[in-house]
Amino acid sequence: MLYREVPKSGDKLSIQGFGAMRLPKKDGGINHEKATALIRHAIDNGVNYIDTAWTYHGEESEKLLGNALAEGYRERVRIATKMPHWLVSSRQDMDKFLELQLKRLRTDHIDYYLIHSLTASGWMEIKEKGVLEFLDTAKKDGRIKNAGFSFHDNIKVFKEIIDSYDWDICLIQYNYLDENHQAGTEGLKYAAEKDIGVIVMEPLRGGSLATNVPPEVEKNWEGADVKRTPAEWGLRWIWNHPEVTVVLSGMSDKSQLDENIRTASEAYPDSLAEDELDTVRRAAKKYKELATIPCTGCNYCMPCPAGVDIPGCFDLYNSSKIFGGTNDGGTQHRYLLYQMGILGERSSASLCVNCGKCKELCPQKIDIPEWMKEVEAQFEQPVVKFKASAMRLVLPVFRRVSFLKYR
Ligand code: SF4
Ligand code: SF4
Repeated sequence: MLYREVPKSGDKLSIQGFGAMRLPKKDGGINHEKATALIRHAIDNGVNYIDTAWTYHGEESEKLLGNALAEGYRERVRIATKMPHWLVSSRQDMDKFLELQLKRLRTDHIDYYLIHSLTASGWMEIKEKGVLEFLDTAKKDGRIKNAGFSFHDNIKVFKEIIDSYDWDICLIQYNYLDENHQAGTEGLKYAAEKDIGVIVMEPLRGGSLATNVPPEVEKNWEGADVKRTPAEWGLRWIWNHPEVTVVLSGMSDKSQLDENIRTASEAYPDSLAEDELDTVRRAAKKYKELATIPCTGCNYCMPCPAGVDIPGCFDLYNSSKIFGGTNDGGTQHRYLLYQMGILGERSSASLCVNCGKCKELCPQKIDIPEWMKEVEAQFEQPVVKFKASAMRLVLPVFRRVSFLKYR
């Protein structure tokens, strides 16, 4: 295993982190025996960064992890978990959530505490509720050691959040298809320049880049001089960036874990040769050729006066077309959360009022308002719209109930 240092904390973290969001399952819940064995196997093989969240596995993940780290394993790892900011109603709630998380994780401190899944509106709201003072206080009294956030919005919002606090780490979605999406390469470098450790999630786009690989892309990998699996190529490409500290993968079985640990053992920064980088570039190009809408995620069309997240909508639409066979449920779910405003403000295709402003700005000459109709038809059937409205209505009640059940 190789290790990279978090600049501000000096922690040397394993470049392969363990994401506790896709643990082995049994009877609709976590398979405790298998998950515990897997987590301990990872630690025994050098993994020392484990990432979980209040919400993972229907709120079972933190508890499972707390138990799995008994018998001396807690002392060998750094734990990261996250504040579900959309459930937080007040400054007091932040303390209450943290206390419950400490209890679930059976620890007296969280090594890396992140605000979960920030978007522009989520950030505004939680900031107004006093999150920065909360982080200062919790760091000072030792309940958390380092503060960070995970992120799902555009580069402008990312920079704004980065510049708003003395963060220790951030967690971004990054892979060879997302160089210009969300924080992207620009965000990665921006954070690293400010000595913020960068943890990467979705390195293989929820596993889509490793499984169900289209024949055109498979042919590209087979043609390379160096033989690697699609997963290895994807992970090596990310670790090749010196700005990346840790890559998280959700590994649900031992063979996946062992393959990733093996790949991590030789993934030095800047270690891929130019022809290897070309192989990855060609794969990305092939994927992009398969995309229906030729959006490059350049953001020139933004902001939309009606609030549509234009590149975000197109990315989810393209993903559903490329990976639809295995990932369609996941894409639908992401659209519901991020575009229909379950976690933040609404930014879905149906908000488009056909003003045409974006069309003039798009270098790809995409007929954006026309495509918005198609995105809406794909993702926003009446039943989905109803579900999203209902979820928004019940969210304040859910916030309270979610708390009360742990009292
Ligand atoms: S045409 Fe639609 S998507 Fe484009 S700027 Fe106007 S409202 Fe936004
Ligand atoms: S300007 Fe065009 S290519 Fe750029 S993000 Fe908008 S739709 Fe995509």
